[in-house]
Amino acid sequence: MIKCKWSYLMCFIFIIPVMYGCSSTSSTHVSTLPTYKSRRPQPDIVVPYSIQKELNQFKIRPWKYIVIHHSASDKGNATSIGKYHREERGWVNGLGYDFLIGNGNGSRDGQIEVGSRWNKQIDGAHAGNPEYNKHGIGICLVGNFDNDYPTNQQISSLLYLINYLQKRCNIHKDNIIMHKTFRKTVCPGKHFPYNKLLARLK
Ligand SMILES: [Zn+2]
Repeated sequence: MIKCKWSYLMCFIFIIPVMYGCSSTSSTHVSTLPTYKSRRPQPDIVVPYSIQKELNQFKIRPWKYIVIHHSASDKGNATSIGKYHREERGWVNGLGYDFLIGNGNGSRDGQIEVGSRWNKQIDGAHAGNPEYNKHGIGICLVGNFDNDYPTNQQISSLLYLINYLQKRCNIHKDNIIMHKTFRKTVCPGKHFPYNKLLARLK
């Protein structure tokens, strides 16, 4: 009987503090648990700090479509492509697209540049079609996707931007289209992963 009581006592003296100690140790470990890694890690989205402010700056007009393009060039940015559009194409408002997404060659990989047409909320010059220039938001990814693939960062930034624009402008997924959807062109190139992109949109 005495032996039995001793074993109970031992339990209170040693085992319970050890259990408590374990649980308190594990609770302090909760905050330092490694973060959950998704099986398909998403690359960082390169969004300028000011982009939300820039995107939200103006009252928007009604938009119906988002039209995706490639630049069909290996490099470029809003300044260089804008200069080309103004000087070579003769478009007084410069850059024909509303947004440009860099590939690391001319701007950072995945960097979103906001064109002046978006800020002024004026017609685009990207579609070669009045309906889509007037009602379509033009997003161009730098690169030639007939030869190459967009980078993960570009796709990530494109998803971010489309999600934002869909919510802000109330654009249905069915109206997120490629340039070649309505015009005889290869743009945005045979390697552009349109179906995969749509699968990741709401
Ligand atoms: Zn195009």
